[in-house]
Amino acid sequence: MLLTFEQAKCKILQAALLTKPPESETVQLFDALERITAEPVISPINVPGFDNSAMDGYVVRLSDIKQSKLLPLSKTIFAGDDITNLYWPEHTCIRIMTGAPVPHGADAVIMQEDTEKSDAGIAFLADVKLGNNIRRAGEDVKKGTVTVPKGERLSIPILSTLATLGISKLAVFKKLKVAIFSTGNELTPIGEPLSSFASIYDSNRFTLNLLLTKLNCEIIDLGIIADDPTKIKQALETASQQADLVITSGGVSVGDADFTKTALEQLGNINFWKIAMKPGKPFAFGQINNALFCGLPGNPVSTLVTFYQLVQPLILALSGIENLSSDSTLRVKTATNLKKSIGRTDFQRGILQINAQGELEVITTGQQGSHITQSFNQANCFIILEQNRGNVNKGELVSVELFNELLK
Ligand code: AMP
Ligand code: MG
Repeated sequence: MLLTFEQAKCKILQAALLTKPPESETVQLFDALERITAEPVISPINVPGFDNSAMDGYVVRLSDIKQSKLLPLSKTIFAGDDITNLYWPEHTCIRIMTGAPVPHGADAVIMQEDTEKSDAGIAFLADVKLGNNIRRAGEDVKKGTVTVPKGERLSIPILSTLATLGISKLAVFKKLKVAIFSTGNELTPIGEPLSSFASIYDSNRFTLNLLLTKLNCEIIDLGIIADDPTKIKQALETASQQADLVITSGGVSVGDADFTKTALEQLGNINFWKIAMKPGKPFAFGQINNALFCGLPGNPVSTLVTFYQLVQPLILALSGIENLSSDSTLRVKTATNLKKSIGRTDFQRGILQINAQGELEVITTGQQGSHITQSFNQANCFIILEQNRGNVNKGELVSVELFNELLK
C-alpha cells in the first residue's frame, strides 16, 4: 500500500484519538515544566489582587487637578502598605511607589518625571487622563477563570503565571511510557569496540533516547535485538506489556533479514506502509496488545525524519496535548539548486537564512542521502518539496518548515 505523507500522518493521529487519555497525577509546580495539564487550572485569586500603581509618582483625583495643577503632598504609600484605614484629605496628592495599593477614589497616578517638587507641593506638568498608570485588580488574571486549559504543555511563562496565582501543585498527565529497541546483527552499542569489520554503532537507539527524553517520555530501553524472528517477537511482546507505545528501528523494509516484519505479522494488527516520502519510505504502524507500535526505517536520517514528522505528533497527542499546532510552512526562494525526483514528498534539510539584501532565503545542506547524518547538523529547517515536483532551480519558491525545539 503506497500512502501519501499526509495520509500516513492522518492515520497515525486517528489512532491516537481512539486511545484512552493517560492517567493523571499531582505534581509540585516546580516539577511541572513541560508536563501537560490533566484538568483546567482555575484561578483562585485576581492578579493584580488590588488596584495598584504602575509607576513611582503621585496619586491624584481628577476633580482636584482640574482646579489646580499644584497640589500639596499629604502622604506616601509604599508597596506592601495596608491602606484600609487611609484618610486622603481633599485637594492633596499622595506620593506612591510602583506596586503600592492605590487608594479608593484615585483617578490616576502621574509619573514622577512629569512633575516638579517645591515647598508648595507637587506641580503637574503633563496632561492627566483618567486611569493613567493604575493597574486594575484582575487585569492580568480574573479570579474563577480558566487560566490554563486542559491538555496544555506547561512552559516557563505559563508556570510563572501560575506562580503569581500562588498555585503550588497541579494535576498533570502521567508521562507516556515508550519502549524502544534496535534491530540488526550489525549493531554494536556505543562505548564498545566495533565487533567486526561490517559492524556499525547503534546510533538510532541513542538518538531515540534523546528525542524521547525531550518529549518528556518514560523510556524503557530494551537494547539491541538480533535479526532473529523469535527474539524480535519476544522483545515486542515484552515491550507491549510495559509500554503505551513501542518504537523500533530497522527491519521494516523488504530485505531478507527484515525479521521485524515477520515477527509483527504474527503478533497483531500492524500495517507495513510504503510512504511516498523521502527519506523514510518503509514505515510500520499498528497495535500490539494495548500498545501502539511504530517501526521506523533503519537509516539514521530516515529514523530522525520519520520520528520528527510522524512520531512526534503521535507522542504529543498520546501524552494528552489537545491542540496540536498545525505545521506552518514559509514560502521562500531557494538560493541553491535542489535535486528532486518526482513521486515522493522530500524532506530535505536546509538552512533558512537572511541574504545580503535582508531577505529570507533557503539553501541546501548538501548531500541528502538517508545515510548522510551530517545533512542535519547545520540545518535549521526542512525544505519540503511536493510529491509531483522535479528538480528545483535556484530562485524558485519552496516550502520551508523551521525545526522546533526537538532538534535543538
Ligand atoms: P534496515 O532498515 O534494517 O534495512 O536498515 C537500513 C540501514 O540502516 C542499514 O544500513 C542499517 O545498517 C542501518 N541501521 C539500522 N539500524 C540502525 C541503528 N540502530 N543505528 C544506525 N544505523 C542503523
Ligand atoms: Mg536491519
